[in-house]
Amino acid sequence: MNLLAPHSELLATLQRRLGPHGFTTDPFDMEPWLTDWRGRVRGEAAALLSPANREEVADIVRLAGAARVAIVPQGGNTSMVAGATPVAGSLLLSLRRMRAIRSISPDDNIATVEAGVILSDLHDAAAAIGRRFPLSLGAKGSATIGGLVSTNAGGTQVLRFGTMRALLAGIEAVLPDGSLFEGLSALRKDNRGYDLRQLLAGAEGTLGVITAASLKLVPAVGSRAVAWVGLESPDAALRLLRLLETRLGDRVEGFELVPREGLGLVLLHVEGARNPLAADHAWHALVEVTAPEGEPEPAERLGEILAWAMQETLIQDAVIAANEGQAQAFWALRDNLSEAERRDGISVKHDIAVPVAAMPAFIAEASPMITAAFPAARLLPFGHLGDGNIHFNIRNPAGSDAAAWFAQNNVAVSRLVHDLVTKAGGSLSAEHGIGQLKLAEFARLAGPVRLGALRAIKHALDPMGIMNPGKLVPLAPGEAAP
Ligand SMILES: Cc1cc2nc3c(=O)[nH]c(=O)nc-3n(C[C@H](O)[C@H](O)[C@H](O)COP(=O)(O)OP(=O)(O)OC[C@H]3O[C@@H](n4cnc5c(N)ncnc54)[C@H](O)[C@@H]3O)c2cc1C
Repeated sequence: MNLLAPHSELLATLQRRLGPHGFTTDPFDMEPWLTDWRGRVRGEAAALLSPANREEVADIVRLAGAARVAIVPQGGNTSMVAGATPVAGSLLLSLRRMRAIRSISPDDNIATVEAGVILSDLHDAAAAIGRRFPLSLGAKGSATIGGLVSTNAGGTQVLRFGTMRALLAGIEAVLPDGSLFEGLSALRKDNRGYDLRQLLAGAEGTLGVITAASLKLVPAVGSRAVAWVGLESPDAALRLLRLLETRLGDRVEGFELVPREGLGLVLLHVEGARNPLAADHAWHALVEVTAPEGEPEPAERLGEILAWAMQETLIQDAVIAANEGQAQAFWALRDNLSEAERRDGISVKHDIAVPVAAMPAFIAEASPMITAAFPAARLLPFGHLGDGNIHFNIRNPAGSDAAAWFAQNNVAVSRLVHDLVTKAGGSLSAEHGIGQLKLAEFARLAGPVRLGALRAIKHALDPMGIMNPGKLVPLAPGEAAP
C-alpha cells in the first residue's frame, strides 16, 4: 500500500483545524526544521503542523491516516541520526507548542509533562520543588521530552540512573489509528501484559506520537564534586571508575572519557574553554560525585581517593573544581565536544556499545585496525565509558579535504567499525537510535530474528506505515516502500 502526498483538501482541513499558529506551508517558517542537526540530511515536507494539545494531535493522525499521508514527529530536531528529518510528501508534526508541565510533585516524585517540554525547563521545574530529573545531555537546551523518550536517550547520568526507559513512569500517546493511549498514571507495578509505555520509548516515532510522559524525579543534589583527571589509557580510566565505585558506591554519577584530540577541539572552537590541567595527557576522565542534602560535601573524600590513585600511578594528575562555576566549566568541556567536532568539519560518527569491561580492549584493538585500513585517519573515541558506550568518531587525515575524504570513505569506515562492534557482541547504536543514517547498517547486521520481530510489531500497530516511514524499521527483502 503506497503512501500519498497530501491533497489540497486535506491541507485545507488541517489549516482550519489548527489555525494560524498550528499550520504553515511557508518555506521560510519550515526551513530550520527540514535539515538534521548534523547538517547531513535535508528533507521536505508538505506542511509544518504545530498542534496545541493532544486532541489536535489525534485529529491530525486520523486525517493523515485516512488520506494515507506520512507523519514525521519532531521535537527539538537534535537527533544524531536524522530521525526527525521529514521525507518528501510528509506532514512534519512538531510538538514544540505542547510544553505544559501538567503536574509536578515532591510527594510522589513524579513530573507529568507534555512532549514539547525542553529538558532544561524540566530541570528548572524540578529544582524549584527541591527535586531533580536526573537525565542530562549536551542538547538539553533544545531536546524535548517527546524526543528523549522516543530515542530512549542516555546522556551523562546513566551510570547511576539508567536511560530514559528507567525514568519513564507513564506515557500518553496517539497511536497510528488516531486513538489516544492514556497510560500516564505512574504505577510502580502493572502486569497487564505487553508494556506499551516501554514499546513506545525508543520507537523513534514509528509507532505513534507521544503527547505527554510521567517521569521519575529524585532528590536534589545536596553538594557535588567534579574532577578533571589526566590518565594514560581507557584501561586506566576504567580501573579508576571501579576504584571510585568501590569507595563511594552509587554516589559516582558521571564518568566521561575525553581523549587529548577531543579536548583540543573544544579548546580550539569553544570560546572561553580552558584546559584544567597544566600538562598534556593522552586521555582524561570527567568525574562527578554527589552527596544528598545534610551529608558532608564529597570533594574531600574524592580528593583523598584521587591522591591515592596518583600515588599508585593509576592516574597522572587531577584537579577538583573549587566552586560551582569551575564545575560547570569542566562539564562544558565534555558537553561541547560534539559541537566543537561539528565546527571542525565533517566526521564519520559512531555510537557504539560493548560490555563495559570490554571497552578499553575494544578501543585498543580497533584503533590500529582502523588506521591500518584508512591511513592517517584521526580517531576521536569519547563519551560514556562507564556505560560501555563510546562515540567512536573518525575524521580525515590532517590537512586533507574533509568533505572529499568523507564522501570517499564514510560507508567503508562505518562498515569496519560496525563489523568490529558486532564481532565484540556490541551494538551499533547505544543511545542515538537508528533514524535514517544507521538504517542500512542496522539492516545489514541486526539478524533476521530481531528484524522480523521489529517489522511484525510495526505492521501490527501501523499497518499503513504512516508513522515516520524510512526510519528505524528496515524494509524486508523485496518489500516495497510504503
Ligand atoms: C549536542 C548533542 C548532544 C547529545 N548528547 C546525547 C547524549 O549524551 N545521549 C543521548 O542519548 N543523545 C544525545 N543526543 C541526541 C539525542 O537523541 C537528542 O538530543 C534527543 O534525544 C532528541 O530530542 P529531540 O526533542 O531533539 O528529538 P528530535 O530530534 O526532534 O526527534 C528524535 C526522534 O524522536 C522522534 N520524536 C520526537 N518527538 C516525538 C514525539 N513527541 N512522539 C514520537 N516521536 C517523537 C522523531 O521522529 C525522531 O525519530 C545529543 C544531541 C546533540 C545535538
